[in-house]
Amino acid sequence: MSILQVDNLKKYFPIEGGLLFKKIIGHVKAVDGVSFSINKGETLGLVGESGSGKSTVGLMTLRLLNMTDGDILFNGKPISSFDKEEMKQFRLRAQMVFQNPFASLNPRMIIRDTIGRVLKIHGLVKNDDEMDEHILKTLEEVGLKREHLGRYPHEFSGGQRQRIAVARALVSNPEFIVLDEPTSALDVSVQAQILNLFKTLQENRGLAYLFISHNLAVIRHISDRVAVMYLGKLMEYASKDSIFNSPKHPYTQALLRSIPKPFIAGEDIEDKVIKGDIPSPVNPPSGCGFHTRCSMAKDICKREVPEWREIETKHWVACHFA
Ligand code: ADP
Ligand code: MG
Repeated sequence: MSILQVDNLKKYFPIEGGLLFKKIIGHVKAVDGVSFSINKGETLGLVGESGSGKSTVGLMTLRLLNMTDGDILFNGKPISSFDKEEMKQFRLRAQMVFQNPFASLNPRMIIRDTIGRVLKIHGLVKNDDEMDEHILKTLEEVGLKREHLGRYPHEFSGGQRQRIAVARALVSNPEFIVLDEPTSALDVSVQAQILNLFKTLQENRGLAYLFISHNLAVIRHISDRVAVMYLGKLMEYASKDSIFNSPKHPYTQALLRSIPKPFIAGEDIEDKVIKGDIPSPVNPPSGCGFHTRCSMAKDICKREVPEWREIETKHWVACHFA
């Protein structure tokens, strides 16, 4: 049973221009027809180079950004149709952890208040004692202690700060968390610890994750299934083993060739991936978006958008020659 189902999701950001009177002169096609689903308790890794539209997808799945078109179902219900009460529940059950724990934590709030805020606002606890008990339990789950409750964010290391952000996401007892590059700002030595924390929490709580990263080594470590994104579209979507052992799309193949061997957690693939830059999502290439950088591209790739098809059971690809 899928907890999240995304169908033909699109986000076109308008570009304003005009000298005297503002008018819309074009669109950034940040997300352009993306479909996937996430089952209860599983991790879908969303991977792609910077600018491919990953964060925009993540924000839309939580209704933190409106979609231009498409459908998003949470536990079978369209999130766009939620009434006030359903929206409140959704805000508790679906959470987000961002890349930068320095920016996402309020520097003037002690940890107890940062984590307890949601409990207070939504009246999830009867009194302060119950609140403290709940906060402490959550804090211990992410590897922090009672003595940390009264401290401010600047008193913690980057890794500890990300643990605090995770505790804040957990305290409302979510079923689904979007993790947007949650280890990318951390020291390499700390990254693996935080990834293992995500795994432990998932096992203990049955959480589902949308795990966003440009780092294939990280994606491989954490994901059950993987979706590969390029210029607003999915290129390939399959189980982790299929993606890493038998990638079908030339873009996925090129990404995998670019991973340094042996794997080094935290090693960056970005910028050494594939020659040339990602084209602009304002004027994306005709046909297949990847044809300008694809070593296998033929004439048809410039003319026709490849069909999104299931070439093996639960293995989808958009390529004329896969
Ligand atoms: P990623 O997370 O994969 O790096 P993003 O989703 O952040 O990619 O961005 C995808 C594209 O959408 C980029 O070209 C980016 O510049 C553009 N974009 C993102 N947010 C906005 C916005 N609020 N307004 C206009 N363009 C945006
Ligand atoms: Mg991003």
